[in-house]
Amino acid sequence: MEIYIATTNAHKVGEFAEMFADSNIDCRLKSAADVEGFQAPEENGNSFEENAFIKAGALRSKLPKEAYVMADDSGIVVDALGGAPGVHSARYAGVSGAGADAANNEKLLAELSNVEDKKRTARFVCVIALICPDGKRFSFCGKVEGLITRGGKGANGFGYDPLFLLPEFGLTTAELPPDLKNKISHRGSAFAKLADFLKKQKHS
Ligand code: IMP
Repeated sequence: MEIYIATTNAHKVGEFAEMFADSNIDCRLKSAADVEGFQAPEENGNSFEENAFIKAGALRSKLPKEAYVMADDSGIVVDALGGAPGVHSARYAGVSGAGADAANNEKLLAELSNVEDKKRTARFVCVIALICPDGKRFSFCGKVEGLITRGGKGANGFGYDPLFLLPEFGLTTAELPPDLKNKISHRGSAFAKLADFLKKQKHS
């Protein structure tokens, strides 16, 4: 089975490549970076699911129909901010590229500066969209619950990881070893559901 991931984000491709390797799914994994002429579409959906299908659909239009195409959309949902940054997580502070993560984290801390510790609840959410060779569409959602800290800690991961405390570990997701993060993360649990689905496809 040939599976294309509709992203050019090398960090994400790497996380998914490790997850596929651990899942024993026999597939050739490719990404949007392998597809000439692919241009990332505007992610203007109102939900993680809509955005994931926008990305998967854009890549599928460039590929032979025999391929499976998947895309994920993810972000952080903060209760005290009415669900923000949500689908706007990547560009929450209006910055793109190299300085985006630092600017986003700074903005999130500023927005929450008057919010007491027990009300700083949040979750990472990931939706993986899958388009099968017959055109059928499926989606798989994963979440992980945590609290927003008052300052960054840890050097692993990316994005909001330094601010996302997992109370059961007493560590931020930036302090977790990457293989443990992959197991418990929103992306990891959405992937586990995708993997179950793909294994059934393979044997049917
Ligand atoms: P997208 O899924 O590529 O649209 O990215 C969503 C944004 O959410 C990223 O740029 C990060 O800011 C944030 N995000 C998604 N997953 C994670 C994660 O595992 N750790 C930290 N931040 C994340």
